[in-house]
Amino acid sequence: MRLISTRDAGASVASAQAFLRGIAPDGGLYVPQEYPSFSMEEISAMAGMTYRERAERVLAPYLTDYAAREIASCVAAAYGDNFGGNPAPVVRLPTCNMLELWHGPTSAFKDVALQLLPHLLTMARGKEDVSDEIMILVATSGDTGKAALSGFADVPGTHILVFYPDGGVSEAQRLQMATQMGQNVHVAAVRGNFDDTQTGVKRLFTSDEFIARQKAHGRILSSANSINFGRLVPQVVYYFSAYADLLAAGTVKPGDGVNFAVPTGNFGNILAAWYARAMGLPIARLICASNRNNVLSEFIETGCYETDRQFHLTSSPSMDILISSNLERLLFDLCGRDDALIRRWMSSLRKCGGYCIGEDRVAAMREVFYGGWADDERVSRTIAKVWREERYLLDTHTAVARAVYDDYRAETGDTTPTVIASTANPYKFPRDVLAAIEGETPDSEFACADRLEQVTGVPMPAPLRELRNLPVLHGTVCDIAQMGEIVDLLVDGERQ
Ligand SMILES: *Cc1c(COP(=O)(O)O)cnc(C)c1O
Repeated sequence: MRLISTRDAGASVASAQAFLRGIAPDGGLYVPQEYPSFSMEEISAMAGMTYRERAERVLAPYLTDYAAREIASCVAAAYGDNFGGNPAPVVRLPTCNMLELWHGPTSAFKDVALQLLPHLLTMARGKEDVSDEIMILVATSGDTGKAALSGFADVPGTHILVFYPDGGVSEAQRLQMATQMGQNVHVAAVRGNFDDTQTGVKRLFTSDEFIARQKAHGRILSSANSINFGRLVPQVVYYFSAYADLLAAGTVKPGDGVNFAVPTGNFGNILAAWYARAMGLPIARLICASNRNNVLSEFIETGCYETDRQFHLTSSPSMDILISSNLERLLFDLCGRDDALIRRWMSSLRKCGGYCIGEDRVAAMREVFYGGWADDERVSRTIAKVWREERYLLDTHTAVARAVYDDYRAETGDTTPTVIASTANPYKFPRDVLAAIEGETPDSEFACADRLEQVTGVPMPAPLRELRNLPVLHGTVCDIAQMGEIVDLLVDGERQ
């Protein structure tokens, strides 16, 4: 499968090249030249397969430059024993099904892609004749940093450095990163806010001087953020897997439609569901759930994307986003793969803060997508209600999706079997989850987690429990202007 850029549909690259580059040279995102397609027989056969077998099937038509045994070896390294047996179990509740995507090492759904991507990347080096090592730079406001560190730790031929805003992440998030083990992993706090940190990393990616200096040290830059096509394909797998599980459980018959509700930020997770649908998976509606930063639900309503608005900090921080980068890939499909139109919209986004896609395209989008949003108060009530009535503990992000799904059902009366993507373990956000259930919360996050476990009896994931006892290994703090030097200092010092 060759990949093209959303901003230049003419030239194509192999998937290994797309993984290494992250973003296309024209600033566009890599998308498949055409969607591979799966028959209902092929999908039904997945009901009897393990997650790893399903992953091999779904990845194969995308990774045509990888041999079957190479795909199998990447999948085994990623999912062999990192996810307690199954990376994406489906749990049945009275009104919906929960697709639990947080059984990986950092207890959030980003693990599913970030445990696989490093292995795809190291193999890509061999395929594209790259002798340099891969240097991954990440700017994080919390969760992505840890998931990326954990995925790349001790993967040969790679280095990773995560920058986060000093004082701008929670105590547990800081400790998750500061205690990460591995020969090739580095973490630095930046004196500034998240925007400063992100701008600093972007500057390094575009600095000829910095790039040349890395090259002289035998390193090329690559990115692990969610616009990398290598983050997207692993996510397509679990939509097929969820459907296969519903078939196996007898909840649906082959060909029956299923809805998915997804708590959305950068539009990566729900876009993977759109891809699964394009590949033949019988998905009826996609319910796109936002928090108070409701730019996407407004877009689905009006067809106008409008970023000139107030930014809100919410109890679902991984969805606090105003520019959902992966939306560009959906737009590309909606406009009949018209790269010139995408260039125009993206330039309007940059210069005027938004764009409108026109009524026909809105109608086409709304045939599949339903958009809604929930504020923190509603999230809190939803966590309390689902715990009280269904004895299931939601995290704040997943609760946004559940609230919006409840609205969807009330509004449409649609009783199609629905799967909600559960994107984080509740113990990742113990203060807000405990507050929803008990009202009062103790001071420290660890005390909140302990109390939550006492009150609910839901077991805390071992890595989160052990966090408080691990040695702190990373304590570098730097100014924004020093970020480039810090890369050399930490990475060149790493084998000493
Ligand atoms: C990243 C994240 C999201 C948002 O996913 P996108 O792919 O960015 O839409 C939702 N929930 C959690 C817990 C996350 O970490």
